[in-house]
Amino acid sequence: MSENNYSFFGAVEKSFHKAARFTKWDKGLLEQINACNSVYRMRFPIKRENGTIEVIEAYRVQHSHHKTPCKGGIRFSMQVNQDEVMALAALMTYKCAIVNVPFGGGKGGIKIDPKNYTPYELEKITRRYTTELIKKNFIGPATDVPAPDYGTGEREMAWIVDTYSAMKPQEIDAAGCVTGKPVSQGGVRGRREATGLGVFFGIREVCHMPEEMEKLGLTPGVEGKRIIVQGLGNVGYHSAKFFHDAGAKIVAIAEYEGAIYNENGLDVEEVFQHRKRTGSVLNFKGATNYKNSREALELDCDILVPAALENVIDKENAPRIRARIIGEAANGPLTPEADEIFLERNILVIPDMYLNAGGVTVSYFEWLKNLSHVRYGRLEKRFTENVNTSILEEIEGLTNKKVDEKKRKMIMHGADEVDLVYSGLEETMITATREIMEEWRNNPEIPDMRTAAYVVAINKVATTYAELGIFP
Ligand code: GLU
Repeated sequence: MSENNYSFFGAVEKSFHKAARFTKWDKGLLEQINACNSVYRMRFPIKRENGTIEVIEAYRVQHSHHKTPCKGGIRFSMQVNQDEVMALAALMTYKCAIVNVPFGGGKGGIKIDPKNYTPYELEKITRRYTTELIKKNFIGPATDVPAPDYGTGEREMAWIVDTYSAMKPQEIDAAGCVTGKPVSQGGVRGRREATGLGVFFGIREVCHMPEEMEKLGLTPGVEGKRIIVQGLGNVGYHSAKFFHDAGAKIVAIAEYEGAIYNENGLDVEEVFQHRKRTGSVLNFKGATNYKNSREALELDCDILVPAALENVIDKENAPRIRARIIGEAANGPLTPEADEIFLERNILVIPDMYLNAGGVTVSYFEWLKNLSHVRYGRLEKRFTENVNTSILEEIEGLTNKKVDEKKRKMIMHGADEVDLVYSGLEETMITATREIMEEWRNNPEIPDMRTAAYVVAINKVATTYAELGIFP
């Protein structure tokens, strides 16, 4: 149970059953999908720097094995409990299916507040956790591949791959045991910002659907849209940045210490630097302070992007939210009651397990890169610069005019790894959006976009299970 006593897994199950009615699969197969396959709950000791022993509670859950490996992040948070990790693992199953990434759903969690530990202690916790996973076969490029999540990042993923490689020296594909690694450790360029970029691509695609925009009373396009972002972590920060760069106005940013508002728009990078310097978003030049950050979610805007933890919008504050679109960048930021309220109020909720799938999509690219032992993109620029310059000069000589900036960049630099990752992600998010919208439009009884997304996911997972049969 989460703090407000709501079972998160219960909420995921509720959405699942709501959508299952719109599919043709029989009860047994649906239960096969819905059930959480394996839950590994562990307790292990670590010795802190001051010499005391502390027992840590941690989990790894594999929700579905219709495709392997299982895939999903590891979070460090005091909210971690079995119910939460099960729910997040289930969301991973549906998320991967929606974006056609061939993984089963998994998730891990360690119940700690990382701020209370030194980097040395965090390293010990991460390495011990990895060792536990290895012992029980809950990690490996073919079985279960973790990634960053709330409270973890590249640093932790490097410790994981190092521990795994040290304990499995014969494993040639060891680098593929975890994604979200630093680029120098087999990571892929663009993974860090991938979830935020996917959120941007997903919302942008919806904003370019004139019919949807008309229903909401909004003009098509992203430019000029007023956006509130909750959470300035990896996902919130990058989503906000991509919206800002596309000409949208980030009117408010909320963090747990408070929120700031400026109707003319905030410069996301400056706010980020200000927070880094002062430890808080509050007192940013030209912005109004909100000590209670929950209040800031209710300010006037077009799009609200909750990008932190679950259950931040519930039946208490949902009636006062003024956004026309809610883009769930976090996992489970709305309770089912809030969902109902938004449906009644004709507010479009773009659901988490599709909208934040950018992270796992690019994790897939990283995993493929690790298994194929190559680097994406073309040769180092320094080897190709002379050739490219002469191509450019030739084109300009033939056409007798200067090549514009965009084309010049393509000719000079070609498609580098990050370009390939961005365009692969863009294509994935656009395709997924259209698939969900088509499902929704083709069946007028489907009440909302979340249900349509679940229908798409259930159909894909069910097809795989039905084709595979049951063994033994
Ligand atoms: N933690 C991210 C998520 O919830 C990424 C998972 C992954 O890349 O495997 O989607």
